[in-house]
Amino acid sequence: MLETSEISELPRGSVIGIMGGGQLGRMAAIAASRMGYSCNIFCPDPESPAAEVSKWHTCASFDDVAALEAFAKSVDVITCEIEHVPSDTLKCVAEFTPLHPGVRVFEICQDRVAEKSFLNQIGIATTNWLAITSPDQIQEAYENGWRAGILKTAFAGYDGKGQFRLDSKEHFEDAKNIWAQLFGATDSAGSAVFEEIVEFELEMSVVVARNAKGQIEAFDTVENIHKNHILAITHAPATISDASREAASTIASKIADELNIQGVLAIEMFLTRSGEILVNELAPRPHNSGHWTIDACNTDQFQQLIRAICGLPLTTPKRWADAEMINLIGDDIEQTPDYLEMPNAHLHLYGKREVREGRKMGHVTIVKPLT
Ligand code: AMP
Repeated sequence: MLETSEISELPRGSVIGIMGGGQLGRMAAIAASRMGYSCNIFCPDPESPAAEVSKWHTCASFDDVAALEAFAKSVDVITCEIEHVPSDTLKCVAEFTPLHPGVRVFEICQDRVAEKSFLNQIGIATTNWLAITSPDQIQEAYENGWRAGILKTAFAGYDGKGQFRLDSKEHFEDAKNIWAQLFGATDSAGSAVFEEIVEFELEMSVVVARNAKGQIEAFDTVENIHKNHILAITHAPATISDASREAASTIASKIADELNIQGVLAIEMFLTRSGEILVNELAPRPHNSGHWTIDACNTDQFQQLIRAICGLPLTTPKRWADAEMINLIGDDIEQTPDYLEMPNAHLHLYGKREVREGRKMGHVTIVKPLT
């Protein structure tokens, strides 16, 4: 860890580079602008939600080394709004400019095998899992007593993509075809995890920020409801016991500290029916389940990110309203007029021109101020 004396605050007017141009980058860029910083968005799409609200846009592919170098040299600090930026891309920009969170954090969070191994090594419970590199190992798992599980590709899966639930003898017998569906061919090299299906009471998450001085601040533990593997609704706070809420927060802070992260980390967890907390996934960036913080807290996940990466003190979060965050996915955007009529509804649209099924077009946070 850096000595306190080595940590300098980024002066006003500095430029923040953001890898990725989606809605998380857009809301981070708005937070940066409030703090007197401007942003350069690295994103291959000519139109992107983040570039639309930023001063500069580097429109290039993630393997364009010349563009990466020029981008890195044009900014004072770099962060990522997506976690699946290739490791070589991250290393390339980090050679020229500080990248927060750092390459190691991304390497852990991009790979389900590395992530679960890391979590278990530091004593954090996950569901039971196996590292799998061939379909034969799935059949072996059956021989060793596994009767159900979820096979997830180790890399690049999100919103339920790259996953297959095996819960019958036929599925295990069909392991080769399932492997081919996930990896292209029955004999493709691949890395996956096979994990036990959790009978959960609910799904929850914590967004935590950590700065270079080691200050850690967690937002309230929230409950998440998914539809078709995509987050649909977040309830803040989660209606669980105080003990579970605090335990979730403690787990989140421990992970952020062990990762030595400078930035924001989201931790997705299951609360099992027996009250155990199992960590499912980490995201080293702001998270959809933290959007409610913009309208219901004294600070929000994007401001905390900007503070953390710019060497500024974090705010201790305080929720001043209960909140329900509803994602506007695809055609849900047509409900905008209804939300405009509701005094406690805070609408956030991402400026995406084309409406597509499953595409996150915006969100609305309905707040219930605490009395
Ligand atoms: P993931 O891609 O790991 O975030 O999984 C997407 C969603 O699938 C989760 O939010 C859960 O609703 C469900 N899911 C994933 N893993 C498990 C599991 N081991 N047991 C039960 N449900 C799961």
